[in-house]
Amino acid sequence: MGYKDFTPEEINAVMQDAWKAFHVYRRFSLKQRAGFMKAIAIELENAGDALIQTAMRETHLPEARLRGERARTIFQLNSYADACEKGDWLEARIDTAIPDKTPPKPDIRKMLVPLGPVVVFGASNFPFAYSTAGGDTACAFAAGCPVIVKAHPAHADTSEMVANAVFTAAEKCNMPKGIFAHVHGAGFEVGKALVTHPHTKAVGFTGSYAGGKQLFDWGNQRKEPIPVFAEMGSINPVFLLPEKLKTSASDIATMYAGSITLGVGQFCTNPGLIIGTEGEALQAFIHDLGKAIQQIAPAPMLHQGIVEAYKKNKGNALLQDDVHLVAESESPVHANEGLPTIATASGQAFLNNPVLHQEVFGPYSIVVRCKDMNEMLEVARHIEGQLTATLMATDADITQNTALVEAVKNICGRFILNGVPTGVEVCLSMQHGGPFPASSDSRFTSVGADGIKRFARPIAFQNWSNDLLPDELKNENPLGIWRTVNNELMKTPL
Ligand code: NAP
Repeated sequence: MGYKDFTPEEINAVMQDAWKAFHVYRRFSLKQRAGFMKAIAIELENAGDALIQTAMRETHLPEARLRGERARTIFQLNSYADACEKGDWLEARIDTAIPDKTPPKPDIRKMLVPLGPVVVFGASNFPFAYSTAGGDTACAFAAGCPVIVKAHPAHADTSEMVANAVFTAAEKCNMPKGIFAHVHGAGFEVGKALVTHPHTKAVGFTGSYAGGKQLFDWGNQRKEPIPVFAEMGSINPVFLLPEKLKTSASDIATMYAGSITLGVGQFCTNPGLIIGTEGEALQAFIHDLGKAIQQIAPAPMLHQGIVEAYKKNKGNALLQDDVHLVAESESPVHANEGLPTIATASGQAFLNNPVLHQEVFGPYSIVVRCKDMNEMLEVARHIEGQLTATLMATDADITQNTALVEAVKNICGRFILNGVPTGVEVCLSMQHGGPFPASSDSRFTSVGADGIKRFARPIAFQNWSNDLLPDELKNENPLGIWRTVNNELMKTPL
């Protein structure tokens, strides 16, 4: 279905409503916010098969994947709602007064409070979990912020249906008008108008580096700069350490053929770069990986733009000096499908050529052959910030290569040992976000309830009487939340 782009006047009206809603919603209790989030989860379930069918039509993702992704999105809403109510994310701190001290120490109490209306841009490859009612939206609602979603044009109908689920939940929970808005726009002007509107106080983005960096720049060039939390692409390097590779080359090849082609390679955690040292074991790994890739059939990608970008970026990578094709899928490929492909290059070729450091979004990975472990270390030190990095290693490999382990730790947000980077668990200990350019602020995560903190800021209350303090900071701790009182974590009232 075609949707009209929002006009500047319509965008302004949406932002005025969001601003008004902010001043009401920010004062809603944690319980009320959690109730609203759980109501959205119910409405998403109520959207039934029609929602799945629409998403299948728009994204070409298989039914099982979309059902799983909706379940994950519902889990996110419910678990972030629980976290919202539990209140750990508020980071409540209380230091009671010491009047006898010279000079006297005042009573100071600190907690996080919401930033204001948040504009959310979702990615094409996660129509539910990283889109309209996805992680950013859930985190913003938990923090106490209204949300304005810019619908992704690649799944605008799906987005519209999810938005209706949010509107229904908002009505049932008596949320203020303007708590949520759903904005269409095929061109970048709509996104720019949203990011630069004075009532926008933060942005959540999941997508490409080009898109995220543009929104980040707009956010920073405003008269009042705002935080733009951009989760961008990544090549997720995998380091094959010698002892592990010698004993498990074939198993690692099988495991990685699956990870590289999972979801037609359309994951931000797709392993796009595999690094080993020259020798028989690496040759065996490359051979087995190539054989496995030849057996995996191509499948439709999200939309034609993504297919074209995949062909172009992969073609460009394969044209670079000293880059060789190892294997492609041997099954016939249709115009809308991504062809699983493996390439290889020397360590020197990789070090000398930034093109090989860029994400090729799709079922593609390059195996870099270093001449020795020193060159592997140099490669690790030349890789930019990543969402994930993986070591395939024995304990001895780790203890004998501490400089490499430190170098890799320095570039990633999630450090995996003997596994694959695809698959991002939704839990409190998850870190999804890494040093730039993986994300625009490596101090935060976009997966897990800690993501709520992106949309809140600390405020300290000094010398306020107990009655006037927010419930979160009152002596009697009426919400029963964990607080750090005079440097000790406790729930007990003062
Ligand atoms: P995208 O092309 O960047 O689109 C994402 C959203 O940003 C769309 O709504 C798009 O609007 C908007 N946008 C893009 N460029 C813009 C610009 N210059 N100005 C204003 N708005 C702009 O990304 P995608 O193709 O949907 O998703 C694939 C990418 O997302 C891959 O690189 C993947 O690695 C990354 N990704 C990252 C994560 C993560 O958590 N880090 C998760 C999933 C995907 P229009 O649609 O109007 O162009």
